[in-house]
Formats: sequence, C-alpha cells, structure tokens
Amino acid sequence: MTEANVITETKRMFINGEWVESESGKTLKVVSPATGEQVGIVSAGDERDARKAIDAAAEAFKAWSQLTARERSKYLYKLYDLVRENRDELAGIISAEMGKPIREAKGEVLGAADNFMWYAEEAKRVYGETVPSSVPNKRIMVTKHPVGVVAAITPWNFPVNMVARKIAPALAAGCTVVLKPAESTPLSAIRLFELIEQAGFPKGVVNLVIGEPEPIGKEFLENKKVRKIAFTGSTRVGKLLMEGAAKTVKRVSLELGGHAPFIVFEDADLDAAVNGLFESKFRNSGQMCICTNRLYVHESVVEAFTNKLVARIKQVKVGDGRNKDTEIGPLINEQGLNKVLEHIEDARAKGAIVACGGNRLMDGEYAKGFYCEPTVITGVTQDMRIYREETFGPVVPIITFTDEAAVVEAANDTDYGLAAYVYTQNNARCFRMAEMLEYGIVGINDGAPTQTQAPFGGFKESGIGREGGHYAMDEFLETKFVSFGL
Ligand code: ADP
Repeated sequence: MTEANVITETKRMFINGEWVESESGKTLKVVSPATGEQVGIVSAGDERDARKAIDAAAEAFKAWSQLTARERSKYLYKLYDLVRENRDELAGIISAEMGKPIREAKGEVLGAADNFMWYAEEAKRVYGETVPSSVPNKRIMVTKHPVGVVAAITPWNFPVNMVARKIAPALAAGCTVVLKPAESTPLSAIRLFELIEQAGFPKGVVNLVIGEPEPIGKEFLENKKVRKIAFTGSTRVGKLLMEGAAKTVKRVSLELGGHAPFIVFEDADLDAAVNGLFESKFRNSGQMCICTNRLYVHESVVEAFTNKLVARIKQVKVGDGRNKDTEIGPLINEQGLNKVLEHIEDARAKGAIVACGGNRLMDGEYAKGFYCEPTVITGVTQDMRIYREETFGPVVPIITFTDEAAVVEAANDTDYGLAAYVYTQNNARCFRMAEMLEYGIVGINDGAPTQTQAPFGGFKESGIGREGGHYAMDEFLETKFVSFGL
C-alpha cells in the first residue's frame, strides 16, 4: 500500500463549478477490497444535492449547447491530455478503491482518455441531412440537437472508463451532465472531476453528486429538467430506471448484465482459445458484464483444453491489485464474494467437479480481503445456478457439446444478449456464428473485443442503446425535421 493511495481529507462533490459538501452533512467511507482498510472518505449527498446539480446543468446547457462543436472539442482534447498525464495517479486510486491489478487500472485510464479524444473529434461530425420533397414548393431539412441535461449513473467495475464513455459523447453532442458514480468507488471519479475542473469546462457543464443511490436516482427520474438517463449496472436497477423514466418519457440508454457463452470448437487453436478465455474471464477478477459465464467445449477437445487451462491458472498470482506482480485481484465486497462461492457450492452439490480452485482465499496476505481462487468447474448442467445467473467472479463453468446447431441454441437460450465468443479456424463457421448468435458483441477468435470506436451494448435484457464510436453520439441527440414552404 502506498501512502499516495490513502486519501485522508473529506472529498466533496462538484456542483456548478464548486467543490461542495452535501446538504445533509453525511459522509461515506471508501474501503480497499484487498485489505478492508479505509482508503478515503467523501461527502454523501441526497436528492437536494442532485436537484442543485440538475439546476446548474440546465442553466449551463443554454450556453454549452450553443458553442460551436470545435469549441466544445477543445475542452475534450484538454481533458484527454490531462487524463493521460495523470494516468499513474488515477490508476493507483482505482486499484486502491476497487482492487483491480494496477496494470489493468492503467489500461482502463488510457481507455478513458481515448474516449475523450475520440469524442473531441466526433463532436465535429454531427451532420444533418436534406431530404428530397414529394411536393415542389417544400424543402425538407433534418438537423441534430443535444437532448439536454443527462443524468449518468455508473458502476464500480470500471470506475473511470464508465464515466468517460458517458460524459465524453454527451459533452461532445452539446449536453450537460450530472454524474452519480457507484458509492464504493467515488474517489477515482473525484480525481477525474479535478481534471475536468483543470480543463476549464464552464461551470455547471459537468457535475458530480455522490451518495445513496435511491434518493439521487429518484430525483434524476422525477426532475423534468433531466432529459436522458445513461446507466451502466445491473439488469435489476436498469429495469427500475426504465420504468421510472417512462413517467416523463426520458431517453434511456442502459448497459446491463450479461451471461456470455464462449464456444470452443474442435477445430480451434486451443492455445489461442485459452488466452482468449483468460482475457474474457479473469480480467477484473471476472467482474465485467462481458465476462464469459458459460464455456462450451467440443467433446473431442474438452480434456486437452481443460488441462491447458488448469495448468495456466496454477501459475497465476492472486493478490492486492496494488502489488505490481498481481494478475487477479480481490472481489469488490463480501456480498460479491459470497455470490461467487454460492454458485460454486450449488454446482458442486448438483454433481459438477471442481477441477481447480473452488474456495475463498483466507490465509496470510488474503486474510482481510475478498479473494476467491480462480476456479474451473467441469460437468456443468442447465439446472445449476451458474448456468443461468451472472456470477461476476473468477469461475469457469465447462459444458461439453457435440453438435454445432445445438450449441448455438444453448448459447442463445438466455435472457441476456451482451457478448459471445467463438473459437474456430473454419471460415464458414465463423460467419455462421457471427450471424446466428443473438448478442450485441461477438468475439470471433477474440476474447477482448472492446474498442472505443466500436458499438458496445446488448440485445434482450442486456440493455438498450449503444456506447462507443459514432453510435454513442446518437444516444445524446434529438432529430429535428424543418419543413420550408417556398
Ligand atoms: P452492482 O450490482 O454492480 O453494484 P447496481 O446496478 O446496483 O450494480 O449499481 C450500479 C449503479 O447504479 C451504482 O452507481 C449504484 O449506486 C446505482 N444504483 C443502484 N440502485 C439505484 C437506484 N435505485 N436508483 C439509481 N441508481 C441506483
């Protein structure tokens, strides 16, 4: 633990260009999931603070939306530079408050910076259209307009990048923002907002409210000045927000849970498949919505694949993310850890075999943290919880298959539809899989398919709308049709 990662003064919220304490005077403690020790303390707000931030954002919208795209772009470029310059510090804070390995945290920060650059550029490409009229004395013009005040709610698993992916396109489009980060990881969001302040954004354009989710969320939903809810988190909360947004017909974009299948065919390059699985399963300790949650391996290669996987797992170093040799960090909290252990126990009780791992790590350096051994379970069947529910932990459940059509049907048999992965060296099969899997993201021989310019989002109950690339801009723009009579 480095001293730099322990923040001792009470951090405040950022509303209308000022660092302010909550109306209630309450605070929130932030703890390290690696050691349980306190790493920070922040002022915790409620609906009153949210209302002030929304008012500030609504006021700031008048001028911000009228700036030229080139002017808005300059602020985003500045923020891009600042985030890159402060990469190591931001990464240290992420690792301290949510536990991920420092190498991954640095990658996350660079990903966030990349969003600020991408949307600095994309801001300038919000084009309209003219459409041929069917009557001679009329002309049709179509223009794009920012939707207005955006309320963004982000989760703890990518505490900086999830913020960047929402605020960068929103600001580029000309919207103003009120952000509520997850209560377990507000420190990295606060540091990002210090950089936002340094970048010189006009007051009220970007606001930060921290605290209990329900009262703040309620204000976001009920306040008519908020025109758009941008959310990443659980399907349960996503549904609540969608329902609440209906009352004032706010736009919503929702990035929700997933239950990704990962299919290894008999003609796959098994070493590449093991590497891909590592990317998709163990990054962030398995706490990503695009994480593999069902591994289907062809019967003829299941033994060879499992042996390679287990051998690789045995070399992995689990530990505090702040140690530079750590490859897999702890889980976010006790509740998250217990869910993972319950999934393992349920599978074991219903006849699955634990090929490696399977337990909480509790000795020595692990004593005070929320660590789970990287685990492989074979013989997984449909009646097990792990087959249907999102595990959010470092557990690989292996299911054996023999037939292509049957495995596609099984892979699609879920309420989720975020990411799916396929390993095969047969070109025709690659195309068949790309077409038949009902998922918003399909990685073909690729276990880490996210990029800033690509659309990210799910089918079915995994969400609505897309982040990434030019697709995200549409989420923050209204379309206006102007009819000119001549
Ligand atoms: P997770 O289970 O990964 O923590 P959640 O969906 O509970 O996922 O949390 C994601 C984000 O949603 C967090 O910022 C959390 O504070 C927020 N959140 C949780 N419940 C609500 C709610 N009722 N209204 C608004 N935001 C909420």
